[in-house]
Amino acid sequence: MNTKKQNQYIKEQPYKLHILWILAVFIIMILLSIFYVGYIKDLSYQHVYQNIKELSEQTATQLNLSITDQKSFVEIMVESIDRGYFKTEEEIFERYQEDLEAYHFTRLVILDKQGNGITSDGHQVRNYANIEEFFQQKDEVYLSENRPSTVSNNQVNIYSKVFQLNEEEKVLMATINTSDYKDILLRRLFGKGGTYLINNNGTVLIDSFGNIKADNANLYEYIKNRYTPTAEEEKEKIDDMARAIKNKQIGTFDVKLGTDTYFVHYEKVNINDWYVVTTASDDVIANELTALIISSIGLCLVINLLLTLIAIYIDISNQKQNHKLYKVAYIDPITLLGNEVYFKENGSIYLQKQSDKNKYIVTVDINKFKALNNLYGYGFCNQILKILGKKLADYVPTDNITCRISNDIFATIFSYKGDIHKLLDTLFKELCNLKIGDMDIHLNIAIGAYKVKLKDRDINKLLDKSYMARAQIKGLYHNNYYLFDEKLENELMEEQKIESCMEEALSNHEFTIIYQPKTFTSNEKLAGAEALIRWHKDGEVIPPSKFIPLFEKNKFIIKLDLYIFEQVCKDLAVWREKYQYMPTVSINVSKEHFATENFIDEYVKICKRYHIEPRSIDLEITESATIDQNIDVLKVLRNIKAQGFMISIDDFGTGYSSLSMLQNMPIDIIKIDKVFVDKADLQSNNNIINYIMFISKHLGVKTIVEGVENKEQMEFVKAIGCHIIQGYYYSKPITKEKFEEYFMKNK
Ligand code: C2E
Ligand code: CA
Ligand code: CA
Repeated sequence: MNTKKQNQYIKEQPYKLHILWILAVFIIMILLSIFYVGYIKDLSYQHVYQNIKELSEQTATQLNLSITDQKSFVEIMVESIDRGYFKTEEEIFERYQEDLEAYHFTRLVILDKQGNGITSDGHQVRNYANIEEFFQQKDEVYLSENRPSTVSNNQVNIYSKVFQLNEEEKVLMATINTSDYKDILLRRLFGKGGTYLINNNGTVLIDSFGNIKADNANLYEYIKNRYTPTAEEEKEKIDDMARAIKNKQIGTFDVKLGTDTYFVHYEKVNINDWYVVTTASDDVIANELTALIISSIGLCLVINLLLTLIAIYIDISNQKQNHKLYKVAYIDPITLLGNEVYFKENGSIYLQKQSDKNKYIVTVDINKFKALNNLYGYGFCNQILKILGKKLADYVPTDNITCRISNDIFATIFSYKGDIHKLLDTLFKELCNLKIGDMDIHLNIAIGAYKVKLKDRDINKLLDKSYMARAQIKGLYHNNYYLFDEKLENELMEEQKIESCMEEALSNHEFTIIYQPKTFTSNEKLAGAEALIRWHKDGEVIPPSKFIPLFEKNKFIIKLDLYIFEQVCKDLAVWREKYQYMPTVSINVSKEHFATENFIDEYVKICKRYHIEPRSIDLEITESATIDQNIDVLKVLRNIKAQGFMISIDDFGTGYSSLSMLQNMPIDIIKIDKVFVDKADLQSNNNIINYIMFISKHLGVKTIVEGVENKEQMEFVKAIGCHIIQGYYYSKPITKEKFEEYFMKNK
């Protein structure tokens, strides 16, 4: 026998991370990060554009201011010379010598039209080259482009204005070292790049860090040539700038030179059509960007991590919640096995997934578990259930589904190739005897089994079949197990046949009533009759034992009860009409009908329809119906009584009604079951029937004994003081017509 530990217990499932959606969150975050970095990059570009433009403007403005300043100084000098304050060059030089330094001039020079003259620092100048250039413009102070100094090796720029000295036209020149402008063009920008002062032909007058050595080098050519390889369209951009500068426009653009990208801004100085051109390489952005990107990626990662953690947290708590719901829905808290829902769901799957021919469904019931509960208490009985469930699961083959599907019923489904009878026998023996703590408990177990057929799919039907099998043994002392067999299969088929034609039988009036008379023991006169049903089917009469249990199961009995009730009322009405006489008729009320709320209202309606007084009718309610825990029995009985019906307790002695309950019931008659006259030791006074007689006397209700078949029984029943007798001794159940004759004779 297989005693290995099984895996049928429903364990806490490990939490599954839903990688996919966590991944989705992650990817979305990464995409957002990329988008963000792109955005930052854009911002940085805009930022650099803005910066370079501002820088260029500032440089141009400063240059302009400083040149304007120097120009006005020259203007002032010429004005005072023109006013005739000075007679000689020396006087002029002397007067302004001190101011020169403040304006960054290195020297003053005064030349005539031939280019001859002197300088303020004592040099003689002869035939100054291109002297005409300085005499061309007379109205304004002229500022020359770079030219080599005549007295030093420096590049210089010259501010000049023509004036009259002693009636001779001369030119006053103030010389400035070109390198002085450099301070204004200033420091190199960030990284590679720089600032250039150019004229409108692109000739570089100054560059901030002296890259362009050759005199009068052209900035455009320099740029284009310096960076190779440079694509044609990039060179084009330089040409565009050249054209724009020619047209006195300003602008900003970026251009890819070699491997570097440069940002360029060109700005008018507003002097001599000079331009300040500022360039910056994207190195600076790259550095800035790298830092930014690193910090944003860091930030994104942290956010990402947080979000992922949150996602995981939400996911886990969701699963926890689901798990809780799952437990409530599927797990039996006492045994930790699955419950009925679990069994049905998973059992159905089990039926489908394997096609082998050796599947069994087995149900185990503890007989009289309620009594055990009363005896040992719930805590201990829960222990019993737990151990029984575990044992069951351990003793059936592996790969089983074992559940507790109701109070004291367990079900298991498994596949087994060995001898099933042996297995069930072992199971029975094992489950009967449990050890709980130090206590040996003997259980009264009933096992029903069904071998699953290939076509079987409906787990409910299979459960029913195993119940049916189990019902074959329940109640017997030497109970064991029962494997659903051909006999049951035939019964089932029979049931199905009956079920398929019962409705039709009802409308075809196949159900009829026969009456069994009841006789007073005192005078042997008629005491009434019990209405009993018969089914006339295909020329045969089917006794109630063949169909009533089934109708009770499928509730068709409720319809049938009403039908019988109405037929009896009809008969009573006919007899009243025909004989001006109505015997009391007992009608059986099924347990199922009795448990239906307000069933009596329907009966009252029928009575009214046929003008029958309820007191002519005695309702037989079985003792077992009166111990139904689910309804308020007393209330129902009182309701019946209130309508005027008589009430008998049928099959008395077979149930377990308590004396205290009986005392409160508004009943008229106790109907003692046939078994007591069968069993009765008719000579003994101590038998049960005597006891029942004692109770009924105490309660003040009448008694009737049914199943009296012979004279001996009749005399015994009479002797113990029973009021009424029903049985073959006086009459079997007879047809309506025969009963009419009978009551006319015995009334
Ligand atoms: P019950 O209510 O206990 O009915 C008494 C049964 O005992 C009847 O069987 C009757 O024929 C039988 N009987 C009466 N005297 C003797 C006797 O001396 N010896 C023997 N051996 N039997 C005797 P029946 O008619 O076969 O009915 C069986 C059961 O079917 C009834 O038991 C009742 O529970 C049920 N039943 C019958 N008719 C109806 C009905 O119309 N409605 C409902 N709900 N149940 C009915
Ligand atoms: Ca009865
Ligand atoms: Ca009975």
